[in-house]
Amino acid sequence: MNNDRRALLKTAAMAAAGSMVAGATLPVLQADQAVDGLPTGEGLEWNKAPCRFCGTGCHVQVGVENGRVVAVAGDKAADVNKGLLCVKGYHVGGILYGKDRLTRPLLRKDGKLTEISWDEAIETIAQRIFDSPDTFAFYGSGQWTIPEGYAAQKFMKGGLSNNHIDPNARLCMASAVTGFLATYGVDEPAGCYQDLDECDVLITWGNNPAEMHPVLFSRVTDRRSRGEQVRIIDIGTRRTRTTDAANDYLEMKPHGDVAISLGIMHLLIENDNYDQSFVEKHCNFRGDEADTPTLQGEPISEEEFRQRIAKYTPEHVEELSGVPADKIRMLADLFGQHDIRITSLWCMGMNQHTMGTAINSLVHGVHLLSGHFGRPGDAPTSLTGQPSACGTVREVGTLAHALPGGRVVTKPEHREQSEGFWNVREGSISEVPGYHTVKMFEQFTKPTAAGGDITTMFVQVTNPGQTLPNLNTLFNDKQGLEDKFLIVSDVYPTATTALADLILPAAMWVEKNGMFGNSERRTQQWFKMVDPPGEARDDCWMTIAIAHKLFEMGHEGMKDKDGEFIFAVKDDAGQEIPVWEFDRYYDTNVDKHLFEEYRQFTTMKHKNLAPYEEYVKARGLRWPVVEQEDGSWRETKFRFSGFDDPFVKAGEEFEFYHSSSSDGRAQIWFHEYQPPPEMPDEEYPMWLCTGRVLEHWHTGTMTRRVSQLSRAMPTAYVEMHLEDAQAANIRQGEIVTIESRRGVCDLPVWIDGRGRPPRGTIFVPFFDETKLINNCTLEAYDPFSKQPDYKKCAARVVKKTTAKVPS
Ligand code: SF4
Repeated sequence: MNNDRRALLKTAAMAAAGSMVAGATLPVLQADQAVDGLPTGEGLEWNKAPCRFCGTGCHVQVGVENGRVVAVAGDKAADVNKGLLCVKGYHVGGILYGKDRLTRPLLRKDGKLTEISWDEAIETIAQRIFDSPDTFAFYGSGQWTIPEGYAAQKFMKGGLSNNHIDPNARLCMASAVTGFLATYGVDEPAGCYQDLDECDVLITWGNNPAEMHPVLFSRVTDRRSRGEQVRIIDIGTRRTRTTDAANDYLEMKPHGDVAISLGIMHLLIENDNYDQSFVEKHCNFRGDEADTPTLQGEPISEEEFRQRIAKYTPEHVEELSGVPADKIRMLADLFGQHDIRITSLWCMGMNQHTMGTAINSLVHGVHLLSGHFGRPGDAPTSLTGQPSACGTVREVGTLAHALPGGRVVTKPEHREQSEGFWNVREGSISEVPGYHTVKMFEQFTKPTAAGGDITTMFVQVTNPGQTLPNLNTLFNDKQGLEDKFLIVSDVYPTATTALADLILPAAMWVEKNGMFGNSERRTQQWFKMVDPPGEARDDCWMTIAIAHKLFEMGHEGMKDKDGEFIFAVKDDAGQEIPVWEFDRYYDTNVDKHLFEEYRQFTTMKHKNLAPYEEYVKARGLRWPVVEQEDGSWRETKFRFSGFDDPFVKAGEEFEFYHSSSSDGRAQIWFHEYQPPPEMPDEEYPMWLCTGRVLEHWHTGTMTRRVSQLSRAMPTAYVEMHLEDAQAANIRQGEIVTIESRRGVCDLPVWIDGRGRPPRGTIFVPFFDETKLINNCTLEAYDPFSKQPDYKKCAARVVKKTTAKVPS
């Protein structure tokens, strides 16, 4: 570090320390958080943070001047992105400064939103919960920071004895979770992004990383520019930018992935080309033949597995999937080669699927059967769409059935351990899982008299009014239900705030302290750098303030066994700090207190985390993180592999130490192919698939307010095949109406656009709140994960002149 930078950091640290004394809220700058080579100047300070958007978890350097984010740079010290960002990441600072930030709490009175004080807002929420704690539901997301999700989890399950808490991640990666659990007995990928640097073959299963995880995809394409050979095989239902970079494109029918994976396994066995030694030592076979199938399934013999898979010949798979038989043989031949490394990548395409758990398990099975597992570059890997879908939802367990650290509410010993860590009275945690997302909204939008037993819902950091499937039924039906009360904390007005009864202005990203966990088990930390606008406040503070109001009202659940507030934070002298008062919230680092409490939960499933201060120093650490003899903390890149994972028994090459069969083995599953829940027919002859685009992040709430991103992709559209358009006399750019059995949506047509669907398929991105394609999508969901299928339903395209008027 040069002398100028040292002087700057010292000055900045002193200034920040001085401002703490004066009661301001910015933390002392950590000298090792800024990298060399960034511009310096009077008053310009740099600090690290993970990007606010996708689950890749790139690190950025954030430049702050005069209390405002003025610059963003890729963080060269970050292993994930090595200084690179995608177009969203370079503009992430702009998301703070949209003109219409919410800055005051707003209560709907006589149909009109009226400004109220925070005291009134917190009191209103607490009173509704106090009056009817069991009919309250908390809906969050994979954008909750780890401490925010942990606070919400403890508030609901430990404090209110209410398990009606679920995240929007149910809509994007729940099937990945159930796939990992069914196969390994524990969630999350075994490998890491290094697999992308070392694979010889990359297979993308219904996945478009060139647009959705561009920095990760560039790790692969960069290798080609250095002269390395990497074969990319894109299996999808439409051509995308990933296809443009692929050596092979295998176009499948919807649900074809299930048949393809079965076909590969059939050939591996038929040709005696599977990894017999790996399977004998490390795997069992499983089927789901029980009347009520479970994630553990039933053991079946290898012979039984052979018999069941026998019918999935390449020719039969071609019929089911549309992929030519010789391409199925090509895939099986690749998996049969043991001297190459194969990585599979997937995201929503395999997860938003009524056979989501099955297809996740089957792709794991292909890798296990072929032995393409556990060596760098040999990995079945799911990616997440949100920055902390892993860190918060999967690890903290903010799902209706889960408790932190891989525990579940249905197991008495897990409830007992959680009650112990929380020091709440025995029996506080209910053994009955709460409502998953689709059910939660069904119960909220159904009249109370008709059995709709959720009456108050608190939504934080997500936008269900745009993302839920079949919006007319699951969201819009809330209108006119007088006794239903929707509370929404957000940063901008959204499709969800449009129906809210109470709107709370939230702080976002570097306006607050935070921690995220990315797709490769990497836990990341950042400090608050700027103040939020107006009266916007931290989501975590909101939860604590509501809890404290209930404590004051005498709610017994808000007291621990010693009669103290469940979120009590004490100073070094043992005095309680009133963190429920916002002007005292940053008197201490609440994130650190919550994280250190949460850390106790993480050892049971070997998801061990390091102390908070280790994350302050690092650009994230991949769990399990284990303390070494010299006091340092070591992360783990490859779980279950003896060469890297400290929990594998000495001398073992692999050990699946959370095996659901309790014998250290993973499960290779057989699932029978099933057709999609709704198929095109005479009335609705097209497949409708939905998804995302490079420029916008999910519902576009943030990115559509960044002019560079908004100009680059101003509107949603429907991608159509030229011949389908010609047959219907539809022209490029013409506005058409998409109709399904559930709703309608008007969109301009894009023929031969960025994505190119085959005949009979249309594709619509969901980022545009002025064109809500989720009016049309289907709420049918996977039986295990309860994740809905957004990738396929029946629809028709109607020229505007003959279409119904949208309602
Ligand atoms: S959006 Fe994703 S890929 Fe792009 S910079 Fe952010 S974390 Fe990286």
